[in-house]
Amino acid sequence: MADTGNPADTGAQSRIVIENCAVATVDADDTEYASGHIVVNGNRIEAVGPGRAPEGLTGVTRRIDGTGHLVTPGLVNTHHHFYQWLTRGLAQDSHLFDWLVALYPIWARIDEEMVHAAARGSLAMMVRGGVTTAMDHHYVFPRGSGDLLGAEIRAAAELGVRFTATRGSMDRGESDGGLPPDFAVESTEDALAATEQAINTHHDSSFGSMLHIAAAPCSPFSVSTELMRQAAELARRKGVRLHTHGSETAEEEKFCHELFGMGPTDYFESTGWLGEDVWMAHCVHMTDKDIEAFGRTKTGVAHCPSSNARVAAGIARVPDMLAAGVPVGLGVDGTASNESGELHTELRNALLVNRLGPHKERALTVRQALRLGTHGGARVLGRHRETGSLEAGKLADLVLWKLDGLAHSSIADPVAALVLGAPAPVTASFVNGVQVVEDGRLLRADEDEIARGARDEARRLARISADAG
Ligand SMILES: [Zn+2]
Repeated sequence: MADTGNPADTGAQSRIVIENCAVATVDADDTEYASGHIVVNGNRIEAVGPGRAPEGLTGVTRRIDGTGHLVTPGLVNTHHHFYQWLTRGLAQDSHLFDWLVALYPIWARIDEEMVHAAARGSLAMMVRGGVTTAMDHHYVFPRGSGDLLGAEIRAAAELGVRFTATRGSMDRGESDGGLPPDFAVESTEDALAATEQAINTHHDSSFGSMLHIAAAPCSPFSVSTELMRQAAELARRKGVRLHTHGSETAEEEKFCHELFGMGPTDYFESTGWLGEDVWMAHCVHMTDKDIEAFGRTKTGVAHCPSSNARVAAGIARVPDMLAAGVPVGLGVDGTASNESGELHTELRNALLVNRLGPHKERALTVRQALRLGTHGGARVLGRHRETGSLEAGKLADLVLWKLDGLAHSSIADPVAALVLGAPAPVTASFVNGVQVVEDGRLLRADEDEIARGARDEARRLARISADAG
């Protein structure tokens, strides 16, 4: 494991006190303080409450005056594809399947250096905007392209973000009735062996872990039934979580009926893919029965409103999912289908998009939107006992949002300002008790250097794929 730079690792007592700020804890009761305090000790939250911090605390290394700020749990991203940072702005007017078919040949040319630059770009964009736990779903592994998962893991450690890396896979190429070209897929055996290897090498299940691995075959239309089944068995044998894309578009539903004689949710159930250790991206085309099955089995959902709009997939039924007890978090999704790459803007987009659905103005409240982006995401990633809310004993993953500037100062309710207003500036963000952002700038990496590196690698990828095409 990389050195987390955490004072708690040395056993030394080191307290950070934040006070005079509004606090939205996102605990089970949605406790909020109009003016409150948080005490961080090492990598944990020691105290949260109203008014000033208690007198007489020892070992205080830093006091932050949070006047004009709202403090929330750090945001948790539950679905992404970092490598797509290099293929943003392409296939601009396509629905999902056409978009995929246009991009697969380019993606099949990626290598380790490209994935590292793309991961740094994707992570920098999210961390700058208050994400403290990131995830990635990587499923394109061209032969001889190097250690792609390792490149992402390195990038997350460099930026200091908590990370769930999922080892994705595709083994159903065009000649087996799948959507991806044959040259973009692995064999079933190779995919399973590499997934097991990734778990053995990287997965850390301890409390406060900075790195989880999950098993993540890509989607029903790019993965064999055998790989779906065996990946579920492998994950359960190893005690890791399972992730995939599910019920994203009407075309996928049609594909499942034609190939498997059933809809996506029934197919997932038949392959062992419903359960509280599973979360799926999108889940747009769900019947009442599908939602009931997710609620009964506590299968999680990564809701990606911007991406769903970008590829015209539809509106996921988030209010119905929440009513049925389905765990729901938010996802950026890959930045080839959500070029902004930000999660804090998805709080607003989730609320707005769902209000365009049948529940109208009652679809989601601002506090429900904040919960989706924090505790909901932590639950979907299986980390809600550690992070996702501000409570004593939990990990010190938190964000100070500046709400006294032009964009927000006239909005009295700080949660409404954060969710409905313009993207709020991040004054400070902490992961595991370590500050990673100050005044909107990354503290552990140079944003301009990341931007140059990503541009160079994007151009190299475009050149290689044009030459090959
Ligand atoms: Zn995706």
